[in-house]
Amino acid sequence: MNPSPLSAPHLNPNLLGLMPSATLAINERSNELIAQGRTIFKLGLGQSPFPVPTVVVDALRAAAPEKDYLHVRGLRPLRETVTEFLHRRHGIERQRRQVLVGPGSKELIFLTQLAYAGELLVPSPSWVSYAPQARIIGRRVRWLPTDLAHDWKLRPETLEEHCHAAPGLPRLLILNYPGNPTGVSYTEDELAALAAVARRHQVLVVSDEIYADLDHSGRTASISHHYPEGTIVSTGLSKWCGAGGWRLGLFSFPEELEWLCAAMAVIGTETFTSVSTPIQYAAIRAFQGGPEIEQYVAACRNILGVLGRHSRSVLITAGCRLARLDGAFYLFPDFEPFREKLAARGVNGSAALAERLLQDTGVATIPGAAFGRPPGELNLRLSYVNFDGAAALAAVAAGEPVDEAFLRRHCPETLAAIDRMADWAVA
Ligand code: PMP
Ligand code: GLU
Repeated sequence: MNPSPLSAPHLNPNLLGLMPSATLAINERSNELIAQGRTIFKLGLGQSPFPVPTVVVDALRAAAPEKDYLHVRGLRPLRETVTEFLHRRHGIERQRRQVLVGPGSKELIFLTQLAYAGELLVPSPSWVSYAPQARIIGRRVRWLPTDLAHDWKLRPETLEEHCHAAPGLPRLLILNYPGNPTGVSYTEDELAALAAVARRHQVLVVSDEIYADLDHSGRTASISHHYPEGTIVSTGLSKWCGAGGWRLGLFSFPEELEWLCAAMAVIGTETFTSVSTPIQYAAIRAFQGGPEIEQYVAACRNILGVLGRHSRSVLITAGCRLARLDGAFYLFPDFEPFREKLAARGVNGSAALAERLLQDTGVATIPGAAFGRPPGELNLRLSYVNFDGAAALAAVAAGEPVDEAFLRRHCPETLAAIDRMADWAVA
């Protein structure tokens, strides 16, 4: 007998075995353990610890009565402001009409994969959602190898080798810097070299610059400077503005890719219609900048930089291996030097590593396998964001220097979590 049309065998086969996103799953798991009375250090989900700047919250409050549906591509003044912001802050030249506003850059990345019929290229490790999105759509995914010795960066020869093997195929490369899960960024020279290969093989590039304003030293680099005609720049409010839950992301397209922007906008008209209207008005204020916003971003960067460097050095002193650190709020420690010790405790891969760490110490992290690394490796991602960002920003505003004493006063939970992790590894 055929299964009922209302039963599970009729699930889209692309979705078979697909689990909830690792970032969101670890957050739920942490909350459940906390509800059971466990002490959990939430280094799992990667979201900004800082409140949305007051001027932006005020703009949202003022825009609350705005209730009409908007143009699918977004409010015109927002698209203009974002284009100016990308130019002023990141040296990216674009035209107004080539910005697309979406309900989070995650959704825009998904729409790109839906609209562009090419294979997905992602360096390993990369953020957890790119590959599952390809899988949902039924696109082929190619993980491009990188290694810790080269700070987990994609090298031009690796891209060349892959494209050269089957020239002329449509390909989409997603490059994210500062990177999730590594915290590593690229130099302009490195991006220029990758751009040359991408141009030679006509690879479509999504430059995921969602953490670009959280480069700890305020540096800006973009592959779009070197390959403007083939690069979509992705940004948003989630990270630098602390507004992940507001769900607003932005794509900036070159003139040459207007056809792709138009196709994605059509999908938008049939799916989300337009992004929340009050949020779009508030986003204009966020991207306009000005002294309050500049000070806010500078303080966020400073705190994250000092905390990230401190955490990295504690883990290195304990014996973990780590890449350089440039920005965002992630570290990707490798516990390979502890392999024997860990094997004796039944830990032979990253899933078991994250699980045992959580059970033994209460520190919640995400296994490296979720980012595309081979499951037998001993790496994991931690997000050093489980502190009171509002209090830390207030202390900076009151003139406190951001040093070790500052970290002890304002980020004690994060320091404790890193210490526990280091002690656990060497035990
Ligand atoms: N890219 C990367 C690398 C991320 O870490 C995230 C996490 N939120 C996103 C894209 C998506 O961000 P959003 O949808 O909130 O704009
Ligand atoms: N990007 C964040 C992370 O990597 C969380 C939000 C999400 O995955 O959508 O943890």
